[in-house]
Amino acid sequence: MTTRRNFIKMTALGTSALTFGKIIPSAFAREQKTEMDFPIVLSTWEHGLNANEGAWKILNAGGKALDAVEAGVKIPEADPNVRSVGYGGLPDRDGHVTLDACIMDENSNCGSVAFLEHIMHPISVARMVMEKTPHIMLAGEGALQFALNNGFKKMNLLTPESEKDWKEWLKTSEYKPIINIENHDTIGMIAMDAQGNLSGACTTSGLAYKMHGRVGDSPIIGAGLYVDNEVGAATATGTGEEVIRIAGSHLVVELMRQGKTPEDACRIAVERIVKKQPQKSKEIQVGFLALNKKGEYGAYCLQKGFNYAVYSKSIANKLIDGRHYYS
Ligand code: ASP
Repeated sequence: MTTRRNFIKMTALGTSALTFGKIIPSAFAREQKTEMDFPIVLSTWEHGLNANEGAWKILNAGGKALDAVEAGVKIPEADPNVRSVGYGGLPDRDGHVTLDACIMDENSNCGSVAFLEHIMHPISVARMVMEKTPHIMLAGEGALQFALNNGFKKMNLLTPESEKDWKEWLKTSEYKPIINIENHDTIGMIAMDAQGNLSGACTTSGLAYKMHGRVGDSPIIGAGLYVDNEVGAATATGTGEEVIRIAGSHLVVELMRQGKTPEDACRIAVERIVKKQPQKSKEIQVGFLALNKKGEYGAYCLQKGFNYAVYSKSIANKLIDGRHYYS
């Protein structure tokens, strides 16, 4: 295990170590090769800023990355103004808010729920699947029963605002997700704690007005999220079908294992999507976000408009634009 002390020693030895995300100038990055650089937490989209605040409280107090990512993503899950995650999420075409979520820790323990209705915090149900069952994934009615049996409350997740938008959509019923139109899609969060351990969480109400029963990439370990404590962590947002097709987050972690920087790993995964779906890739958004074991991070997406939030002691909760394939 890489301890905090070893990590500091490693960076002090002057490996090319901490080259930070693109937007941080390299001179700044060089100055920051200290213990300040982790703990660290990263999350997708602007709603990641609030989520990071919740995670940071735990990380800054010496808490575990696993607890931090769960607490962090619960913030947008409970926020009715975030219309793509948890309570207040936009429904499927039949008016049901159906949620997907997964969580993974430094020991490759993982848990997931898919097509879950009526529960505000699917991420906590996913964690309970991980900790209390011999399984990794529960879906639909079975996931709901499991949640209710374990003390979660059944509630209506469809807010009046989301219901209004859905009824508006019903007038044409045209299924055509618009790239970045909401600009606050899935929350994927990855973190390294003060012990140097990695965890991640990913939670979403999925694509608005999807078919009833549709499950995206977000609850699928290796697609919407992947963590390997020897290498790094990655998460995804955007059109889940294309992320699943390339096992996106797993691909990003494996590319980092081969020595790619987090941003290069994300870029190569995005290029894989373009190669497999040259036409479709022009019409959709997919973004990847990655963190390696050295505390380096980066992102890459198909289209302009994807951003992510980073919080460490030296970079207090800042929103960064992801570099993109299409200009
Ligand atoms: N990846 C999510 C899904 O396909 C949606 C998103 O991130 O926009 O369900």
